[in-house]
Amino acid sequence: MILENGIVRTMDPSLPVARALAIAGDTIAGGVGTHELALASPERVDLGGRCVLPGFNDAHVHFPTWSLAQRQVRLEGTRSLEEALERIAVAAREAEPGRWLRGLGWRSGDWSPPEEPTKEALDRVTGGTPTALMARDYHSLWLNTAALAQANGDLEAEGGVVERDERGEPTGVLREECAWRFRDTHVRPTEDEMVEASRAGMKIANARGVTAVHDKDGWLGALGVFQRLQAEGSLSLRVWESHPRDELDALLALPLHGAFGNDLLRLGYVKAFMDGTLGSQTAHLLDGSGVEITSRVELEETIVRAAERAFPVAVHAIGDRANRDALDAFEATRDVWRAKKLRPRVEHAQLLAPEDLPRFAELGVACSVQFSHAPSDRDLADHFWAGKTDGAYAYRSLWDSGALLANGSDAPIEELEPWAGVCAGVLRTIDERPAWHAEQRLTLEQALIATCVNPAWLAGDEKRRGKLVPGFLADLVVLDRDPFVLEPEELPSVQVVGTMLGGRWVFCKCQGAAKPDVMSDRTDDGSTSFLDTSSPLRSRRPSR
Ligand SMILES: [Zn+2]
Repeated sequence: MILENGIVRTMDPSLPVARALAIAGDTIAGGVGTHELALASPERVDLGGRCVLPGFNDAHVHFPTWSLAQRQVRLEGTRSLEEALERIAVAAREAEPGRWLRGLGWRSGDWSPPEEPTKEALDRVTGGTPTALMARDYHSLWLNTAALAQANGDLEAEGGVVERDERGEPTGVLREECAWRFRDTHVRPTEDEMVEASRAGMKIANARGVTAVHDKDGWLGALGVFQRLQAEGSLSLRVWESHPRDELDALLALPLHGAFGNDLLRLGYVKAFMDGTLGSQTAHLLDGSGVEITSRVELEETIVRAAERAFPVAVHAIGDRANRDALDAFEATRDVWRAKKLRPRVEHAQLLAPEDLPRFAELGVACSVQFSHAPSDRDLADHFWAGKTDGAYAYRSLWDSGALLANGSDAPIEELEPWAGVCAGVLRTIDERPAWHAEQRLTLEQALIATCVNPAWLAGDEKRRGKLVPGFLADLVVLDRDPFVLEPEELPSVQVVGTMLGGRWVFCKCQGAAKPDVMSDRTDDGSTSFLDTSSPLRSRRPSR
């Protein structure tokens, strides 16, 4: 197959731009003009001036959870408790009797008047339907009386908080370990529910240019979910799967030595948590506030034990204390993980003390960050981390220090939309306001390296994917125009029009041979062209 008449951005410095790309089977072939043209009639795809990039690799996503969230009550953007309750009331009227009503996305910090949610408020609109609503950052859970009743008073857990009123009664809000324990015991989705939702979720992700993800739902059994999807032939992205630190013994009981799986699905790393989050005010800060989930010493132990079996550790750290503890632990154990050539990473790295910032590059610990978090958290950060935000979401400083940045969405906390993430990295704003800490803006190229190239390195695939060079897997995305010639503020209007995984289109706004379900449009010569997606650029083209 030959993709021609376009702008191919290879992300490889030796030949950054090409006009065409030849694909043989599932890989990128040598330059056009050799093998491919010797074929009797290679399939041709007319890019019509569109732009091809390596496929997007979301480096931090809770994929089954995000997929399930597509079907739940969504409370993002609610400006008051009343508005949230109105949305919940609509969903409660449609809820199936006897089933859980699930939802997510509330953030009481966004509400005015400022108030905390309660079970009584929820009871008014949900009645006897057990209801569990995750906060936007997944670190607080809002329950009604019917839901709380299922726990028979057994709500406490170490590392968590049960919010209580002046009489000592639970208010309906659980935090951290208490929230997660309740969810995992009482509200856990079944594997069938996750398979069904993820099957649909993959199609949405492909339509947004995603060809690979680093999943964080290992604790939820995502490995089995993806295995079932691969067995039925519907796994249409590459998955680098996590295993929870809480179940490290189970992993180490297997006779594995390092990542295990195949081209599409691999179990690759251990996921741990140092602290909570900004929104829940549970991020562990140097001023002593927040919650410690894993201590520095415990993390060291985990790193060493996992390294003995050649598994790297990815650790969630938000607060400056949590990040320092994580870095200290990686530093203390570096001989062990370096000897195994492991690629450890800190997830989020949101707030850093100035003296800790250069340590990521010095140690060789990657920063798995989420560009969208900076502009969407800016108000919370200015409020809770006042005076410290010079070291918050400091992506450009990290980049300039030599640290390896990988970009993810953290979906469902943000939408699984890599292009929006790239734009957030470049613009540092998602609304009409000027950039937040403009000095931390990345260039488009840097944002794309963090989204296409670096995640492949973290999964040990740097010689197989992430760039469009001969011998690499043909995982790519087609954009309706070349983003490198646009003004930064025009970037958000760029659209994904095609996505290819291993030489096969998994999404395509095109006509011709490319797509099985548009075979009826097949042209005589087996060629494919893209549909006119009325973008501003195209409509500006002078008509003849
Ligand atoms: Zn996450």
